[in-house]
Amino acid sequence: MTDMKPFWQVRRLDEMTTEEWESLCDGCGRCCLHKLREDVTEQILFTDVACRLLDLETCLCSDYACRRRKVPDCVQLTPEALAEIDWLPPSCAYRLVAEGRPLAWWHPLVSGSPDTVHEAGVSVRGRAISERRAGQLEHHIVDWPGKTPRPRRPRACDRA
Ligand code: SF4
Ligand code: SF4
Repeated sequence: MTDMKPFWQVRRLDEMTTEEWESLCDGCGRCCLHKLREDVTEQILFTDVACRLLDLETCLCSDYACRRRKVPDCVQLTPEALAEIDWLPPSCAYRLVAEGRPLAWWHPLVSGSPDTVHEAGVSVRGRAISERRAGQLEHHIVDWPGKTPRPRRPRACDRA
């Protein structure tokens, strides 16, 4: 009998093809928001300030291929890097799969649509400001990027 489970349920992150790995990203844009680290406690403080390359409408990197040349501190996610990173949002698909948890209904791989991450209110669309005009990060500290989102299901009439 054929195993009908999707690839992210049957393969470890370090066993995935490049295409599978890239498709795991839900396009939420949350990881492209700037973070601060508290001096004494080392606690992560999230902000609503987006990297200058993030397209605030699509929530995708506007120059993904050249991003690391233009933004040297852009972190490349790899299975090895995931073990070291403590600032990925709790809804991040890489984090969920690494922790053996399921992807939510709004993930494009589950819903079949790249729009559901926005329709569910999970992406940063409408909630982030570009670093080009934000000013000081300390004035933009917010907690929502570090919280598990409470997605809203679109009504049928919204999608007609
Ligand atoms: S937080 Fe995770 S799922 Fe969302 S855009 Fe970043 S890498 Fe992709
Ligand atoms: S360079 Fe692109 S992928 Fe990297 S943080 Fe900025 S918007 Fe995100």
